[in-house]
Amino acid sequence: MSKIVANYKVNFVDADFKKLLKRMDGFSFKNAEFIVCPPYTSLHIFKNKSVLLGAQNLSSTDKIPTGEISAEMLKDMNVKYVILGHSERRKAFFETDEQIRNKVLKALEFGLKPIVCVGESLQNKKKGETLSVLEKQLNTILRDIYTNELENIIIAYEPVWAIGSGNAIKKSDLQEIVKNIKFILEKMYGKLFVNKISILYGGSVNVDNYQSIISVKGIDGLLVGGVALDFEKLFKIIEGLN
Ligand code: PEP
Repeated sequence: MSKIVANYKVNFVDADFKKLLKRMDGFSFKNAEFIVCPPYTSLHIFKNKSVLLGAQNLSSTDKIPTGEISAEMLKDMNVKYVILGHSERRKAFFETDEQIRNKVLKALEFGLKPIVCVGESLQNKKKGETLSVLEKQLNTILRDIYTNELENIIIAYEPVWAIGSGNAIKKSDLQEIVKNIKFILEKMYGKLFVNKISILYGGSVNVDNYQSIISVKGIDGLLVGGVALDFEKLFKIIEGLN
């Protein structure tokens, strides 16, 4: 079973999501778990449908601040997944690994599955820092998570330079990085638990490259942004995963 998470970011309004819902109607998702992550304002379109629903963020505190959305509110909308630590939020709102960790803990407390985004910047990549950046992010965000929670955690490896750039990672590079992510997780949790955590790849996935990405050993699915806006392409990928 492969996962495909569609991150709609600040795209689409209710009318567009109704079209997506219509496109999904009657579609047989056999081997693909399709997780739709619309903006908060359109979660209600999917609330009472048999759709795997995700949000794009949550607040790690229940009391403050004005304008935030809590885990409890997401539960109330039938949300099951939540994208946390997306590089766009890290950049725009200076989200730190420690803050992302608090959001992960809040999500788990409320029975939401966190989709934890990690990945290196172009500068990190050029300096050969990819693995040390990933190790630091994972060690901080996922330290001391109870092993019985690990099956609820999804890591989305999203190199920052690949997001929205049209330049997806090379298969051989992804193979190497996934091997190392598993190694980092093994050091954190031990061999027995490594494979409980799903690992997705995100960053310029499209109809031409998804097959080579999904064929990488240890990759359990995809996180897609831009391509999810085009239903024809999106469903071509979902069909391919089926
Ligand atoms: C993303 O925003 O997480 C993403 C993967 O976007 P894109 O597919 O457009 O690179």
